[in-house]
Amino acid sequence: MEKPKVALIAHDKKKIDLIMFVKENIETFKLCELHATGTTGKFLREKLNLPVNAVHSGPLGGDIQIGSLLVEGKMDFVIFLRDPLTAQPHEPDISALLRVCDVLNIPLATNLATAEALVVEIKSILKSSEP
Ligand code: PGA
Repeated sequence: MEKPKVALIAHDKKKIDLIMFVKENIETFKLCELHATGTTGKFLREKLNLPVNAVHSGPLGGDIQIGSLLVEGKMDFVIFLRDPLTAQPHEPDISALLRVCDVLNIPLATNLATAEALVVEIKSILKSSEP
């Protein structure tokens, strides 16, 4: 079976939360193909030593690149920890990414509670593919 393909993105004030979350579920994420926006991906590699395909940083178009992978059918799940309290200069790009998830019916978590639910789903997919 192909590895579940997961996009991981976090706004600056949520990056620590995302790193902690991935760390708590590291055994699951190790079995996935991971993609991330630039700075998030750098953190994941440096702090957790995970192999991550990092695109450009979000403000420089990384969200659009992740969106493009989604459109091409190359992503199964998106975990995007957003900071709803801080204005983001690239908000149009973020909205486009979220929109594409809805258009294509791709599971998207924008907070830790739904991220937990997605990990449960990913675990069950991995388990069902065990020999
Ligand atoms: P970053 O981008 O991981 O490069 O910080 C995330 C975002 O701001 O959308």
